[in-house]
Amino acid sequence: MKTVFSGIQPSGELHVGNYIGAIDNWVKMQEQYRCIYCVVDYHAITQDYTVKDMSPRVRDMALDILALGVDPEKAILFVQSAVPEHTELAWIFNAVTGHGDLERMTQFKDKAEHQPENINAGLFSYPVLQAADILLYKAELVPVGADQVQHLELARRIARSFNHRWGKVFPECEPKLTETPKVLGLDGKQKMSKSLGNHIPLTAIEEKPLRKLLGKMVTDEKRVTREDPGNPDDCNVYSFHKMFSTEDDRAWVWQGCTTAGIGCVDCKGRLAQRMLERFAPYRERRAELLAHPGRVDEILRAGADKARAIAQRTMAEVRGKLGLWR
Ligand code: ADP
Repeated sequence: MKTVFSGIQPSGELHVGNYIGAIDNWVKMQEQYRCIYCVVDYHAITQDYTVKDMSPRVRDMALDILALGVDPEKAILFVQSAVPEHTELAWIFNAVTGHGDLERMTQFKDKAEHQPENINAGLFSYPVLQAADILLYKAELVPVGADQVQHLELARRIARSFNHRWGKVFPECEPKLTETPKVLGLDGKQKMSKSLGNHIPLTAIEEKPLRKLLGKMVTDEKRVTREDPGNPDDCNVYSFHKMFSTEDDRAWVWQGCTTAGIGCVDCKGRLAQRMLERFAPYRERRAELLAHPGRVDEILRAGADKARAIAQRTMAEVRGKLGLWR
């Protein structure tokens, strides 16, 4: 059975892009593979954060992942810093990672641009720790969004270099993308992202806040008035209908928009309805978990025990290959 690994930073709330681009696959893949999912707090410290918020954020992220349907009976869910082998393997991988390769990473360039006052070495070698996260479990499939594909190519190169220098230990890992690996934000132009503030947090998928957020969503800019026909293919709202609505809804939107039979308010109203329906089980499970504080910590502790056992086996093999003193 193939092993699956994926991680997410505890940097605030999950949004629709995270769900549609990655977590949706986390939930689906647990039915078929050995799945290991991780809240990556050591990655999060490469960006500015408030110390007292870290623990609650980790717990909230785990709670959201569970509410979306990751089942601790089927998948391992744990926190990265509870398994220190991640950082040990990352150090070893540093020795087989090209400086030039890291310099080419577009996410590093983006992040460095966003926080020019704190361009630390951790931010630079982030993909090395990410490679260690995945390969510690010898994972072959990594459900992520399109923005992570470049990092996974590097992870493959690192595995190859390690195997070449010290002997075969690691498999080649590849990204597992969803049908929509890049969800655009409310601006309809850039990738939906917390840091860009163009996101729809999952917790905002409630009647009033959702309708308010969708109200701000940019539509086909060439459709100026209600009387102008629009082009759904140039409209981000229509791409959301593709993710959340039925075929009948989409036909209704297409027909109505191209003939100016419906306005954007009608179209967004139908979308809101479908999104509320899709996330109803999430809201229910979330409320249930919130009513049982302690349950999430229990799941994370049990998950860390299982993850650590696998990680320790891999590290024993790695130390042997390196010829380290014992
Ligand atoms: P953000 O960019 O909002 O900080 P993260 O970097 O924490 O989000 O991403 C967590 C996961 O969600 C990754 O697998 C990433 O590829 C995926 N993801 C993030 N934003 C999007 C998006 N807009 N569309 C598709 N997938 C996304």
